[in-house]
Amino acid sequence: MKVAVCKEPKKPLVFEEWNMPEIGEEEVLIKVHYCGVCHSDLHIVDGDWADWVNYPTVPGHEVAGVAVKVGSKVDWIKEGDRVGMPWIYSSCEVCDYCVEGDEPLCPNHEITGITRQGGYAEYMKAPGRFVTKIPQALDLAHAAPLFCAGVTVYSALKHAGVKPDELVAVQGIGGLGHLAIQYAKAMGARVVALSHSPGKEELARKLGADHFISTAEKDPVEELKKLGGADVILTTVFDSKAIQPLLEGLAPRGRLSVVGAASEPIQVSPFDLITKRIVVTGSAVGGRKLLRETLQMAADFGIEPMIETYPFEQVNEALDALRKGKPKFRIVLKMG
Ligand SMILES: [Zn+2]
Ligand SMILES: [Zn+2]
Repeated sequence: MKVAVCKEPKKPLVFEEWNMPEIGEEEVLIKVHYCGVCHSDLHIVDGDWADWVNYPTVPGHEVAGVAVKVGSKVDWIKEGDRVGMPWIYSSCEVCDYCVEGDEPLCPNHEITGITRQGGYAEYMKAPGRFVTKIPQALDLAHAAPLFCAGVTVYSALKHAGVKPDELVAVQGIGGLGHLAIQYAKAMGARVVALSHSPGKEELARKLGADHFISTAEKDPVEELKKLGGADVILTTVFDSKAIQPLLEGLAPRGRLSVVGAASEPIQVSPFDLITKRIVVTGSAVGGRKLLRETLQMAADFGIEPMIETYPFEQVNEALDALRKGKPKFRIVLKMG
């Protein structure tokens, strides 16, 4: 089978021919049909996380395909089922976080594409208990980005406790933000999209946003206050200076949730914490339960990531496009 290997950081991926993985009795062999290309993959390839990644590695953690071999002890997935694999490859399953279905907080989780072979490959094996079925209503190409980008924003909204009719502000309308608008809307929220590109208004409204604030033209805090203040702000940007002022736009009991790993700190006024009881939080990916919800919500509400497809052979071109910030939304590799 063909795999794209990151042999060492800061070098293009190399295509290699590997033996088909042998699966154990609790594992599943997935024929990868599509694999999303995530910003995290770029961090792996560019060596930003060199202390953590064991090179060589096969990246790819937005895997959508078909189960082609199922271990004898896996009874809930059958050959031919449409399945995928997310960032969390496996976890200890016994710590308190795992028992609560919050596997991203498990201190002993394995990561697809970092500590285990990922989906930049024609086939990958996965632990049966961590393989997730894909609802029939979703096509595999559009399902792939839901395994990281989708579950990331949905989990963040869930952890922020979004309730119907609350005002949810989504900052940034890119790969994460365009999904966050759709999920927040499906959760019954009123949604306000914030972008520094005034040209994104039409798209934001098409995705379900009730309001649009062009941050290049208007003061977002004033505009949020006019709407009564945001109950939740989900920020998907990587710039703390752009996030910082928004805290003022939170309503009392408002929650700011961060999903972009900006390097600069965000300052919070103790006065606001006390008098408005605001909460500043963040979230990364999601556990199996939230992933199932992410996929089912997409099927039920017609949530769809906007994708650009590259053939697997052009994985280096896809990564380069991402490096240059070219794709507006999500990239998906088409295998075979
Ligand atoms: Zn990712
Ligand atoms: Zn655990």
